[in-house]
Amino acid sequence: MLKTLVKDAHILTMDEQLKEYEKGCLEIEDGVITHIGDRPSESESAFNHVMDAEGMLMSPGLHNAHTHSPSNVIKAVYDLAFHAIGMWHIHAWTVNRTSEEIKTSTLLGCLEMLKTGTIGCVDHSPVTGSINRLPAAGAKALDIDPIAEAYLQAKMKAAISVSVTDHEYSDIFPVNRKGLSENLICRMEDSFEKPLPVEETLNLCKEAIEKWDGHLDKLKIMAGPTSPLRCSKELLEGAVKLQKEFQIGIHTHLLESKVQTEISQQRYQKTLVEMIDDLGMISDKLFCAHTNWVTDQDISILGSKGASVIHNIGSNLRGSAGISPIFKLRKAGCNIALGADGSSSNGSQNMFTLTRLALTAHRVNQPDMKKWLTTRDIMQFLTSGGAKASLLEQSSGSLEQGKKADLVLYDKSSIWLTPFNEPYRLLAWAENGSSVHTVMIDGEVVVENGQVLTIDEDRVKKDANEMVKTIPKRNRSIFEVIEEITPILSEEHLRRFEQKHQ
Ligand SMILES: [Zn+2]
Repeated sequence: MLKTLVKDAHILTMDEQLKEYEKGCLEIEDGVITHIGDRPSESESAFNHVMDAEGMLMSPGLHNAHTHSPSNVIKAVYDLAFHAIGMWHIHAWTVNRTSEEIKTSTLLGCLEMLKTGTIGCVDHSPVTGSINRLPAAGAKALDIDPIAEAYLQAKMKAAISVSVTDHEYSDIFPVNRKGLSENLICRMEDSFEKPLPVEETLNLCKEAIEKWDGHLDKLKIMAGPTSPLRCSKELLEGAVKLQKEFQIGIHTHLLESKVQTEISQQRYQKTLVEMIDDLGMISDKLFCAHTNWVTDQDISILGSKGASVIHNIGSNLRGSAGISPIFKLRKAGCNIALGADGSSSNGSQNMFTLTRLALTAHRVNQPDMKKWLTTRDIMQFLTSGGAKASLLEQSSGSLEQGKKADLVLYDKSSIWLTPFNEPYRLLAWAENGSSVHTVMIDGEVVVENGQVLTIDEDRVKKDANEMVKTIPKRNRSIFEVIEEITPILSEEHLRRFEQKHQ
């Protein structure tokens, strides 16, 4: 039995009482925390390994509760693009990848996350690396292998949410197609693969669950309707069935952009939240990214059933999609986590780029300070909230006896934590990830002195640079469609925005 003692660290446990030890110690046996307190439970000679953490701030590893690994290699391929246009760019940059490219993209994100203290993520990824190709393109569930293998190599925890769709992406197509040429409409539609029958899609998900869910205690598989709007009711019901049969989660984009509320009313004569509630999709196993355009009634439905909401403030601000009413959602009973979202729409997988945005975005229009999020709230979203949204609340997200040793040691002498005083505020307002010294996952050191031990960083960077050079040529037809529809989508978006402000 391997016994480790980490001593003399300033510890933020992030447990329910937010217990803190200014000079604490933590004991680990076979990856599990067996003791945490002011002093060790036995003499140092009883341990195989004693780690002196004096001068370090210890807190639970962070969880990135919504991302898309195919986008890790395209963090800066476009700039001025609101949600629908951004989605087109992402599509053009991520379809038609090889297994090696999918793995490279995933590993690049692992490097970013590990180096900045994130130990786990929810990766909402089509198995072919495209935003729409999974089941649709005749892809096999086995295509999920390069993603799973990358996380296993990195020794990170990942809930891979298998992205499925069987409906057109109506929220990123022009709503008014009158006046568009037949040719353009055909090329727009041909940019996406035709969907597979629902049963076949669900079988692929089942195969992924059977192969990878629970693997080495590191991986989970979730059902991942890309958005309820982009799925038939049959497919959504199938996802609910899988959730119940395998006790997995359902992870989905929910009401990210305003146009999605319009489509929902037109198609179902009710809000999207009401529609999925009718299908039995809302429970404490439902994890919704974004959730920007919800009514008070929607909030109360989501809250009463204990659903999780993943706040993707970086991508939502960058793409002008909207701001989720996080304060209200939490008050209604939702668990809140933070997500980087794809690097294409956020910029990176560094969760510290989001802390200040999440704190400040809600203050602009809220004069009542009692309704402002605090730095403790943000650190909880990033740790225990994220673990819950990854179905890891029993084992991760806080430093407590019986949980896995998933933790980060920050160097208190780093410029960002100097002068060292109130740790929650320092982490949320001043830290940028570069004080991360050591990261442990399941008690195993995966980052030491800021260096990732599980991945050949130089090799991944070289491969990432090579692969993106070939993409514009490979997917040229989609880039041509983007050029033509950008002005049309822009005009519709502007009209929608003006209506809102009338
Ligand atoms: Zn997303």
